[in-house]
Amino acid sequence: MPSGNVHNLINTGAFLVIAGSTAYARQQGLVSPSWPEILAFTGSFFIGTFMMSPDLDLAEQNVNSKKAWGPLGFIWVPYGKMFSHRGLSHTWIVGPLTRLGYLTLLLAALYYLVVLLMPEMKSKITFENVPKTLEFWQPYILGYYLSQWLHLIADGISPDMRALGRTFKKKKR
Ligand SMILES: [Zn+2]
Repeated sequence: MPSGNVHNLINTGAFLVIAGSTAYARQQGLVSPSWPEILAFTGSFFIGTFMMSPDLDLAEQNVNSKKAWGPLGFIWVPYGKMFSHRGLSHTWIVGPLTRLGYLTLLLAALYYLVVLLMPEMKSKITFENVPKTLEFWQPYILGYYLSQWLHLIADGISPDMRALGRTFKKKKR
C-alpha cells in the first residue's frame, strides 16, 4: 500500500493532468468552467488529498493527513479509533461521507458549545448565506470525491459493493 507521500504525489500528478486537459478542452470550446468553479474544485481536491485522506482511519498514529491539521490533528483520533484501517473508510461512496459527516458533527458540537456559553453569538452566526443549490456544490463534490477515489485506486480498491458488505460484516464481528 502506498505511503502518504506517494498518495500525495499521485494525486498532485493526476491534478496536473486534469488541469492540463481542462485547459485544452476550454481552449477548444468544449468546456467553460468559471473561475469560482475552478477554485472550488481545486480547493476541495487538495483539502481532500492532504487533509481528508482515507488513511485518517489510522489517525491514532501519526499519518500525513493528520499532521496536515497541525495542532488540531488530535480531532481525528476518535475517527481513527472508530474505523478499522481500509474498512468502511476505504469505500467509494460511503467512505468519503464518513469523514465529512464526522467533521460536520464536530463543527455542530462546537457551534452548540459556543451558543451555550455565549448566547449572544446565536444571532451573529447565521447560515442564511450558505448556497443551497446542487449546481453551486457540484465542483466541490467533484474535487473532493475525485481526490478520494484516486487514493482508493492507488490502494488497489475497486468500486465493489460486495466489498462494502464485507466491511459491515467485519465490523459486526
Ligand atoms: Zn489508504
